[in-house]
Amino acid sequence: MGGSTTSTPVTSGDGALARLMAGNKRFADGVPVNQGRDTLRRAEVAQGQSPFATILSCADSRVTPEVIFDVGIGDLFVVRVAGNTATGPVVQGSLEFSVENLNTVLLMVLGHQSCGAVSAALREREPHPGQIPSVIEPILPIARSVEHLAPHRRLDAAVEANIRAQTQLLADLAPIIGPAVSAGRLMVVGAEYLLDSGTVNLLT
Ligand SMILES: [Zn+2]
Repeated sequence: MGGSTTSTPVTSGDGALARLMAGNKRFADGVPVNQGRDTLRRAEVAQGQSPFATILSCADSRVTPEVIFDVGIGDLFVVRVAGNTATGPVVQGSLEFSVENLNTVLLMVLGHQSCGAVSAALREREPHPGQIPSVIEPILPIARSVEHLAPHRRLDAAVEANIRAQTQLLADLAPIIGPAVSAGRLMVVGAEYLLDSGTVNLLT
């Protein structure tokens, strides 16, 4: 293994999801094949890209989609922003580009355990310099929605609720992503990456 490309083409959201989850299992089990990261693959995709999935993930340095899904160059179209929020126009436009122009069949919102952006939203009264508040602001309604929980349960609950909220926002987003979902051309899913085990859990 470890050669150019080792996988058959993906043509459905289910197929793309199965490929991601199989790769995550290899990674979590410590037996990644690290496919598609060599000079052959580099040359192959220099002519054009055809990623099989699009991922909106947190910018956290530990949440690295190509690594945790054990895929290669050209396999994923990835947008990363702290807190994996889908509210910003540049984030939305980037995701729309991948659906409209690259025809990816799966869009995954990937949050993670112990997310610092979500944690900051839970401590909203702390002042933050620069543009950091603009990272936290979209997560504030979610943070408030878990205030009824015991303090030690709030972060996990808010991480999950944030993934669900961003996933729903995208699934309904006009005029590109929502209609692609309705037409059956695109699957949108939410998932959480666990930093300690390396596993990705789908939120259903
Ligand atoms: Zn994070």
